[in-house]
Amino acid sequence: RNINRFRFSTAAAVEELITPQVPIRYTQHLINGKFVDAASGKTFPTYDPRTGEVIAPVAEGDVEDINRAVTAARKAFDEGPWPKMTAYERSRILLRFADLVEKHSDELAALETWDNGKPHEQAAKVELPIFVRLFHYYAGWADKIHGLTVPADGNYHVQTLHEPIGVAGQIIPWNFPLLMFAWKVGPALACGNTIVLKTAEQTPLTALLAAKLFHEAGLPEGVLNVVSGYGPTAGAALASHMDVDKLAFTGSTDTGKIVLELAARSNLKPVTLELGGKSPFIVCEDADVDKAVELAHFALFFNQGQCCCAGSRTFVHERIYDEFLEKSKKRALKRVVGDPFKKGVEQGPQIDVEQFEKVLRYIRSGIESNATLECGGDRLGSKGFFVQPTVFSNVKDDMLIAKDEIFGPVQSILKFKDIDEVIRRANATRYGLAAGVFTKNVNTANTLMRALRAGTVWINCFDVFDAAIPFGGYKMSGIGREKGIYSLHNYLQVKAVVSPLHHPAWI
Ligand code: NAD
Repeated sequence: RNINRFRFSTAAAVEELITPQVPIRYTQHLINGKFVDAASGKTFPTYDPRTGEVIAPVAEGDVEDINRAVTAARKAFDEGPWPKMTAYERSRILLRFADLVEKHSDELAALETWDNGKPHEQAAKVELPIFVRLFHYYAGWADKIHGLTVPADGNYHVQTLHEPIGVAGQIIPWNFPLLMFAWKVGPALACGNTIVLKTAEQTPLTALLAAKLFHEAGLPEGVLNVVSGYGPTAGAALASHMDVDKLAFTGSTDTGKIVLELAARSNLKPVTLELGGKSPFIVCEDADVDKAVELAHFALFFNQGQCCCAGSRTFVHERIYDEFLEKSKKRALKRVVGDPFKKGVEQGPQIDVEQFEKVLRYIRSGIESNATLECGGDRLGSKGFFVQPTVFSNVKDDMLIAKDEIFGPVQSILKFKDIDEVIRRANATRYGLAAGVFTKNVNTANTLMRALRAGTVWINCFDVFDAAIPFGGYKMSGIGREKGIYSLHNYLQVKAVVSPLHHPAWI
């Protein structure tokens, strides 16, 4: 079967590339307020996903670098001013940081696009403003964290103190390098913790610049340490470190299991996990088809399909299925794929050769299992990691493309007959991160909203990510919630203080 038969008007655009006009200022680890080489002196390359060429060598962290960073974070927590300064002062530093990010947003957005491949317009106009908003939000929380007075039995005065947990280890992925930095660093700092952050090996650059700006904003040294490096070395060292008091991880479910085990086997540090998904997007029979097509397209293809919450199972009611399919295919063929630095480009390359090959393998598996390839199905251009926007119809629940997280621009469209059936099928997954519902009927919306086993249900919208909205997974999509008030609980210890109301010692 010739899978290159579809006509993409933008194929040429992936061959002519713009040279990014941004300096690479920081490639070393940031430990104890200073940029330092790896203890081993080793570096590893970070690549431009548009070409596969090296952008820069970056310090390669390992056990010793993690040890040094944890020692700095421990000292900053135990002896430094950070947990002891007034919450208002901490809040001011977060606000000053947000101001500096706004000032440097061109540099941050360009670096994010270069290292990750996401459209520059998305990085600059969507993600940077959300990043700033997240730090405004957490700055607001810093001086509003307090405990309770507990009405225990009449003989005791009981209060709870909400104290920072200590040194937080944070491991982040490559799909939203800056936003994942904000989701993790924001609440940890607002609560008065210190941090060792390990970035993803594919995208080390923007976190180093952001952490430098944090120091310019007045963050004391040792409070935020950033180590670059690979997962099984630097990441595992952080997850199993005896002096790390809490671990927060975002990435694949398989790696989530590994870090949970490392945390359990070392010092039983509490762990929050934000993992994979296979989220349903349910288009009901009363839906406006044009609007549903556009939203379902966005729900899957946003960020090259590299979203943990991507609406990667598009369930469509049988009465509108044919029209929806035809229009979805047209929309995918119109998707503008190309150099993410070009204006109007909707889709850049996949992050790296592993993800690119994995996506193409899933496409082959879809074809082999007799799903119908409506469009796409191959790479785009001859260099870099661009994948054609791909749509499959006649997808069955037991096909791999309907079960596994593809993490690429591959839409799987499934047909359903009635609401009970779609609830059962939507929930028949080991994941439970998010779900989308598209309907005009409030009864249907309410029924689905209650029945879907997912951490987020978006009704007639998708990927709405305000700082105040909690995010996290049911089932194997994770443990705990990030963002919103819930994220603070991850970074606080509760201390109960009990004293008798009447006691000779008081006199
Ligand atoms: P991954 O889970 O291996 O990597 C995520 C982070 O974990 C990175 O910082 C990595 O260095 C670190 N890591 C890897 N192995 C580790 C270990 N043994 N100990 C400690 N840390 C470790 O993800 P990946 O290999 O980059 O991508 C694989 C798949 O994961 C993707 O195809 C996608 O399905 C999924 N993924 C999900 C998300 C998400 O947001 N939930 C993000 C990225 C990838």
